[in-house]
Amino acid sequence: MKVLVINCGSSSLKYQLIDSETEAVLAKGLCERIGIDGRLTHTPAGKDKIVIEAPMPNHTAAVSLVLEQLTDAKNGVIKSLSEIGAVGHRVVHGGEKFASSVVINDDVIKEIEECSDLAPLHNPANLIGIRACQELMPGVPMVAVFDTAFHQTMPKKAYLYGLPHEYYEKYGVRRYGFHGTSHSYVSKRAAEIAGLDINNSKIVVCHIGNGASVSAVLNGKSVDTSMGLTPLEGLIMGTRSGDIDPAIIEFICHKEGISYETMLNILNKKSGVYGMSGVSSDFRDLDAAADEGNERAKDTLHAFCYRVAKYVGAYAAAMNGIDAVAFTAGVGENSPSVRKEICSYLGFLGLTIDDEKNNVRGVERIISTDDSKVKALLVPTNEELAIARETVALV
Ligand code: AMP
Repeated sequence: MKVLVINCGSSSLKYQLIDSETEAVLAKGLCERIGIDGRLTHTPAGKDKIVIEAPMPNHTAAVSLVLEQLTDAKNGVIKSLSEIGAVGHRVVHGGEKFASSVVINDDVIKEIEECSDLAPLHNPANLIGIRACQELMPGVPMVAVFDTAFHQTMPKKAYLYGLPHEYYEKYGVRRYGFHGTSHSYVSKRAAEIAGLDINNSKIVVCHIGNGASVSAVLNGKSVDTSMGLTPLEGLIMGTRSGDIDPAIIEFICHKEGISYETMLNILNKKSGVYGMSGVSSDFRDLDAAADEGNERAKDTLHAFCYRVAKYVGAYAAAMNGIDAVAFTAGVGENSPSVRKEICSYLGFLGLTIDDEKNNVRGVERIISTDDSKVKALLVPTNEELAIARETVALV
């Protein structure tokens, strides 16, 4: 079966067409600037990418252009839309309603709408993508795959905040966690590569990209993760602050005379390694600046790695030990120096990194020494493939 995987943002839409039998990507691409002007970058497998500037007043127009390209006589990879057997949609927040992926129907759409309060920037955009596909591909089964679902196995002690209980009961204020599709996929692959039985394993996944989170996966189930009610909690990220003393918000609002909306925007978009370094949110730029002797860039990189290592240490306590630590996402897959610095704190667990094996980018492999008690691994994430697999399993 051919599965179209859709990841819809407020002004963008990423897609992949995947053959579920061979798991090959037949085509992939990105629509940008939806509602502004519109640009489609389409890459059919084995061919050069094509950039098309075309008006995309809304997401339906964007999906329509994608379908045109997929079936195009020259750039297309299928003859007709009837070849698409199912569509898998990434949905950011499933609240407590969704502990696994579901086939989309009217009730599911209503429930995703009800979770929009918890992810006001993401869920409405995901719903627009679902509705656009339903309009253009009537009758094709669609599946919602939630970023939060994998973490629904967290026990209460991990997801409750130290707040009055009524906020949990009235508003669902608790820790949910995100990047679940990635944590699920990477923990399973890590177990396979490390030769562990997933049902008897203690794996920490470090998903470190522009957004970043760590998870503790015990016997294949998430028992803790660093993101919370929203993706702002936890690690220092590209532009997000991660954990801070909540009293800082009032303190800075008062000193700077700014509203708490402005402050939240600063915490989400102007903080993290970007705000700390004053250089960039991109680790390539940070590495370059540090190499040139920029002290703030060096301090930022050290603080980033230290925070990740502290979470790994905490999860060793949560699971009473660790068998493997897996690195994934943009930084985790591509930065040997970040992996090395994080692992430099983990010797007490019995983890020793192998500098030669670690000196790679974007390939699946063990990066610890042969005699390392705890394995370190590099596992490139593949959220689209994971979504396609879930979709096929449900339809
Ligand atoms: P993601 O959000 O997973 O797409 O990760 C994006 C981030 O990965 C970028 O912002 C960079 O910080 C980081 N990244 C990508 N390539 C490299 C590289 N070669 N070295 C260091 N960091 C990288």
